[in-house]
Amino acid sequence: MFLHPMSWPNGKKCAASVTFDIDADSLVRVGRPKDADLRLQPISMGRYGPTVAVPRILETYRRLELTQTFFMPGWVMEEYPDTVEAILKDGHEIGHHSWAHEDPMEHSDEVEAELFERALDTHIKMTGHKPRGYRAPVYSITPAIVNRLIEHDFLYDSSMMADDLPYEVVTNSGSLIEIPPHWGTDDWPPFAHMGELDYIMPVRGPSDGIKAFIEEFDAMYEAGGFWMPVLHPFLTGRLARWRELERHIERIVEQGDVWLTSMENIAEHAKSTGSRLRQENLDTGSTPATPLTP
Ligand SMILES: [Zn+2]
Repeated sequence: MFLHPMSWPNGKKCAASVTFDIDADSLVRVGRPKDADLRLQPISMGRYGPTVAVPRILETYRRLELTQTFFMPGWVMEEYPDTVEAILKDGHEIGHHSWAHEDPMEHSDEVEAELFERALDTHIKMTGHKPRGYRAPVYSITPAIVNRLIEHDFLYDSSMMADDLPYEVVTNSGSLIEIPPHWGTDDWPPFAHMGELDYIMPVRGPSDGIKAFIEEFDAMYEAGGFWMPVLHPFLTGRLARWRELERHIERIVEQGDVWLTSMENIAEHAKSTGSRLRQENLDTGSTPATPLTP
């Protein structure tokens, strides 16, 4: 059960968005800036995303007549213009995902503001409009970024984890819809292995890894909730993994009672529910009454 249940349009039982973050080779370039050009293995692994996996994913979406959401760093958009074009041609949404996947905690907010604006300019130049949604690199969102999103009229963020369902984040500057991810539906833990980023994990088998996402779906379906895997083309877009997830998406489509749509539509719907939406006030709620100083 949910403390603040949501109902979905047209009597659908549950809602879902399959989201992909196309980080490509920005990860190793930011993680190993001194010699990334020499590291062809992680660079090629990242490049596999936009060049091989995204066309495969788009083909599935075309076949099933789905419109979904991709998040892209501005630098990746500039490096892979054909990918941007293919995604837009099929009517999908592209959200803001930083300039080049720099962790906002690793530099000042002045630098972050500049990188944020640079990516925003790329979105406007390549898509013709401002993005409506944002997801922070490694979910590393700060209070300053939340206020920046509000100032730029973003509809939603998808980086914070305070609920199962979309909620409203409020600050003294205004508010935005939060569509919460969580690590149980992120494909880094089961599928990523990147020594260059000190991320060394046992890679799970395709059905084993995807099964965990499906269990998350089953619980959301039963409770009338919202399921949102956070995937990366270079990980889940690999042949066998995508085949597993594709079968699950086919089942959902066939079932007919799941609203499988873009994040923008989910956020618009959440916003339209107005006062019934749960609110989380960052300005009053994030500061403990007793500071946690040693
Ligand atoms: Zn990312």
